[in-house]
Amino acid sequence: MPPLQSKYFQLPMSPAQPLPSQKPIHNPKTPCPLLRLELRDLSSDGARTFLTFINAAIVLQEAIDGIFRYLYTENCHVPTTRSVTLVLRSMPGVAYTTAKDLDNDHKEIHFSTDYIEGIAKERKEKEMLGVIRHEMVHCFQWDAEGSAPGGLIEGIADWVRLKSDLVPPHWKQEANGDWDAGYQHTGYFLEYLEETYGEGSVVSVNEKLSKKKYEEHAFWRDLFGKEVLTLWKEYGKKLEEEAEAKGEALNSNKAAEKEVGVDHEPKTDLSLKDLNDGGTPDVLR
Ligand SMILES: [Zn+2]
Repeated sequence: MPPLQSKYFQLPMSPAQPLPSQKPIHNPKTPCPLLRLELRDLSSDGARTFLTFINAAIVLQEAIDGIFRYLYTENCHVPTTRSVTLVLRSMPGVAYTTAKDLDNDHKEIHFSTDYIEGIAKERKEKEMLGVIRHEMVHCFQWDAEGSAPGGLIEGIADWVRLKSDLVPPHWKQEANGDWDAGYQHTGYFLEYLEETYGEGSVVSVNEKLSKKKYEEHAFWRDLFGKEVLTLWKEYGKKLEEEAEAKGEALNSNKAAEKEVGVDHEPKTDLSLKDLNDGGTPDVLR
């Protein structure tokens, strides 16, 4: 009698069709590097929260698409990043981006699960998307061979976050201090340049950082015909004028309310209450 053939094998199934809403929205002009996700401890609350809110298979490529929508045109030089690994692990701070010692084209984004745990419930998804968008910019931006001011690099990353509508509630525009203090401080300044000197201004800033070492005087004069400190002062003046106009509008509204006896509940200042993002400095390479 011939031996019975084992039937304990799995029959191949017809491949599942992804739901239309689950397909990554990929712009064919943007790079499509190898994307990886590494969860160091699945039992951590931060990792569980991440998996609840974020579909990394879609979100990472969407972040790259979003960056190329604002920071690159067809004529720009594009960095040769070949892989991005998102590593979720317990660590202090928020997140940072690094590259492999032997090959700068392989990037790693480290994102703190402790930080994710601490984000207010209603802000979790948007905050995680915002942090990923910021760090992904570091994987695809130029830095003048490492000579660009760190504050400009961070400002470009937060400018992309701003354009992507992923702004945390505590961000505010301000023109005190240095133009290259970084993060949203510089990000809003870049947005002012974009609004004042035309769409594509920040594309030009990033593109110029691809060509040679950063030299402050020539860099800003070539792009905008002015020193960066002059541009910064102009920005400060515009903010002052806007604040004055707002103050006047507020005063006239108050006067009008007094006349007709309108009363309001006092408003709380959300921008001071929600400080989850913390603005902890991250590291580029
Ligand atoms: Zn950064």
